[in-house]
Amino acid sequence: MGAGMKPLLVESVTKNFGGFNALNGVTLDFEPGERRAIIGPNGAGKTTLFNVITGVLPPSAGRVVLFGRDVTRLPMHRRSALGLARTFQINTLFPKLTITENVALAVQAQTRLRYVCYRPWRAYRALTERCDALLTAWGLWDLRDARVSELSYGDQRQVEIVLAMATQPKVLLLDEPTAGLSTAETAVVTALIKQLDPSITIVLIEHDMDVALHLAERITVLHYGEKVAEGSPEEIKTNPLVAEIYLGAGLT
Ligand code: ADP
Ligand code: MG
Repeated sequence: MGAGMKPLLVESVTKNFGGFNALNGVTLDFEPGERRAIIGPNGAGKTTLFNVITGVLPPSAGRVVLFGRDVTRLPMHRRSALGLARTFQINTLFPKLTITENVALAVQAQTRLRYVCYRPWRAYRALTERCDALLTAWGLWDLRDARVSELSYGDQRQVEIVLAMATQPKVLLLDEPTAGLSTAETAVVTALIKQLDPSITIVLIEHDMDVALHLAERITVLHYGEKVAEGSPEEIKTNPLVAEIYLGAGLT
């Protein structure tokens, strides 16, 4: 990575759904290791932004640049090979499989891309070692044989973050990782996010203003598909337009 190269750049991105602009000329850039929150009322275009960054949806206009490389037309798996990972607003775990099996699938999906020429037994040993390391590092060892469906929702959300980490991302996008969690569960997930490798660039969509203010060094506010404010937590907290948007939307 060259000096000063941005891990992620979103340039003038517009996404149109049948005449409706879910995103309208959004430009964002991110520093290596930055913690950024994206906030804004429901329907502001936050998830659409993640879909365009990851390649789930093509933008109607604009560019996405990962580590200096224009990826706007690259499929999802090519972007993940460059170090991009995400979690979803809704749970995407396999409920009938155990935690170990879910982690193994995520690790295997990545190793297939990288170590295709490994002999099977070596690939298998590498896979189990990597799974065990992840489960231990993230405090999931005791839960390894539990089925996802047996876990609390808070534990499931933690497992999703660990799965995203299984791909060893350099840029990690988290879509509302604390949605639907109790205060206690939110605290656990927030602590987990804080512990992630500081060299990873983390972009977090967050509905909970307290969590956003706590985790992020910089906050971007989207409203009706446009970037309406960006700044430090202090600047955003005292921004009258942001207060108005949040009051208007009936959020706190
Ligand atoms: P947020 O995540 O900020 O709540 P979204 O990005 O999910 O908002 O949605 C932004 C707007 O785009 C909403 O009005 C939503 O209904 C619309 N939208 C999102 N995805 C699609 C889609 N695939 N087709 C049509 N409209 C969509
Ligand atoms: Mg959303």
